[in-house]
Amino acid sequence: MARIAIIGAGMAGLSALQLLAAQGHEVTVFDKSRGSGGRMATKKVGDASWDMGAQFIRAHSAAFTAQLQQWQHYGWVEEWNMTPWIADAKGLHPSPDTVLRYVGMPRMTGLSRSLLEPAAAFIASTRIVSASRGASTGQWSLSCDDGKTFGPFDGLLINTPPQQAIPLLSAAPQLAAQCEQVDMLPCWTLLLTLPEAMNCAADAVFVKQGPVSWIARNSSKPGRDKKQAWVIQASHEWSRQQIDAPRELVQQELLSAFFAALQQPQQQPDTQWLHRWLYAIPANSLTLGALSDIGQQLVVCGDWCHSPSLEGAWLSGQQAARTLLTTLPNTAEEPL
Ligand SMILES: Cc1cc2nc3c(=O)[nH]c(=O)nc-3n(C[C@H](O)[C@H](O)[C@H](O)COP(=O)(O)OP(=O)(O)OC[C@H]3O[C@@H](n4cnc5c(N)ncnc54)[C@H](O)[C@@H]3O)c2cc1C
Repeated sequence: MARIAIIGAGMAGLSALQLLAAQGHEVTVFDKSRGSGGRMATKKVGDASWDMGAQFIRAHSAAFTAQLQQWQHYGWVEEWNMTPWIADAKGLHPSPDTVLRYVGMPRMTGLSRSLLEPAAAFIASTRIVSASRGASTGQWSLSCDDGKTFGPFDGLLINTPPQQAIPLLSAAPQLAAQCEQVDMLPCWTLLLTLPEAMNCAADAVFVKQGPVSWIARNSSKPGRDKKQAWVIQASHEWSRQQIDAPRELVQQELLSAFFAALQQPQQQPDTQWLHRWLYAIPANSLTLGALSDIGQQLVVCGDWCHSPSLEGAWLSGQQAARTLLTTLPNTAEEPL
């Protein structure tokens, strides 16, 4: 049995955790946030809650399709049965498709919590600032921002956005250089509840013009509170242009665009929360699947190593874990 550290409890790290723990390894997961899930985040303000990052999960590959079916069987995800709408120059109109969309239950972070179960320990609210490998021991130790150290670990898996991985890769400058090639796009996100329920048939809207690109009625997802709660995401292009704009201005523009897209009269929300995702999705994923330095028992994963989605993150985590398994002492990769 090896001791392994995972930095980052996003979908990729949690995907890797399943394989590593299933092989009997002792895995400790670190995250700088209070909970797990990363960009699969849920935000709670008072009684209201919203899926603040990833909105739904869909599968293209056979492997992830099978994984989603298993999670559905466990009750960790459910299908979000909705008809997408489009808001464009022609107005607001339904645009039915046959895509199967799933959501974590009873919120997106419900899925990440279930996936965290095989961890030997989850060390939250802990930002790892450096990772070093003893030249003689060949083992990793980690330091966090309050000076505490953790280790030793036989293997290290880094699952952070590329910009946050670079400072952790001083032992592997060739991997840090690959991280530098990835451009992550921002996304301003506005969450709100309204005092008066809107009479609007659309639960999810792809918006093709103006600052907003996506609107979802969070309360239309299975397992969510039935009080109308809305998620409004700005386009990446607009978010980048407005990256340092005053928050009040961003909030006002997104609010106006939201009512305009849904063709509804404006009303003052009773709860609002504005979040700026600096690293929302990769503009250019590396498509390698995962980065590795086999000699140092070091792997790096995330959507930006594969493709910009939860599926891409999951596949990247699987690849990283398989690579790490081949490097660990007394561990032969078995067919999984
Ligand atoms: C607004 C938005 C909407 C999206 N919509 C969808 C969607 O509908 N469907 C879809 O499939 N995908 C969507 N995505 C993309 C999807 O969320 C990501 O592809 C996926 O969650 C990435 O997972 P990951 O494991 O690669 O990284 P992350 O989820 O970013 O996980 C990285 C983790 O590392 C932690 N971390 C970072 N640095 C440190 C450190 N130094 N020490 C400790 N911990 C650290 C972070 O806190 C985080 O938890 C969306 C993303 C955003 C932001």
